[in-house]
Amino acid sequence: MENLVRTALAGLVVTGSLLAVSPVSAAEKHAHGEGELKLAIEGNKVVIELTAPGSDIVGFEHKPSLDADRKAVAAAAAMLKDGGALFAFPDKAGCKMQEADVHSEMLHDDKHKHGDGDHAEFEVHYSFSCATPSALTHVDVRYFKAFPRAHELEVQMITQKGQGAAELTASSSRLTF
Ligand SMILES: [Zn+2]
Repeated sequence: MENLVRTALAGLVVTGSLLAVSPVSAAEKHAHGEGELKLAIEGNKVVIELTAPGSDIVGFEHKPSLDADRKAVAAAAAMLKDGGALFAFPDKAGCKMQEADVHSEMLHDDKHKHGDGDHAEFEVHYSFSCATPSALTHVDVRYFKAFPRAHELEVQMITQKGQGAAELTASSSRLTF
């Protein structure tokens, strides 16, 4: 009986960690140079969640107080928003970006204090709609070209084949489904 309970709990923990698609909490330490990419394909929809340290995106993680820093953050946010440029799906799949939301404490003017802004991150949510999802064999991730300070993306994905994980780098930036 006790064993059964324990097994069930262990199962829950495993399931919980596999499905941890929740955003990285600010308190959790990130490693500079390493971001996370979560991708799910559901029917004709592809949703992507990208989380990256500010240092990978703009080279710093403090609240931008200088004009030049503010401009750098705004320019980076615009590049992050351009999901069609960052994620190249096969032409045959006919994918079009529907939405892109960029979140970062670095984007907000400081009215009220945020905990410690020492390790600010960018979090971006994308959704794509694909005319021919059966042609979704891979995606070329052009993130490393856009953000050369980034070295690695840890990928978790859920596709028609089930769950998978991968690691992308500048020299290996194709994610095969
Ligand atoms: Zn940091």
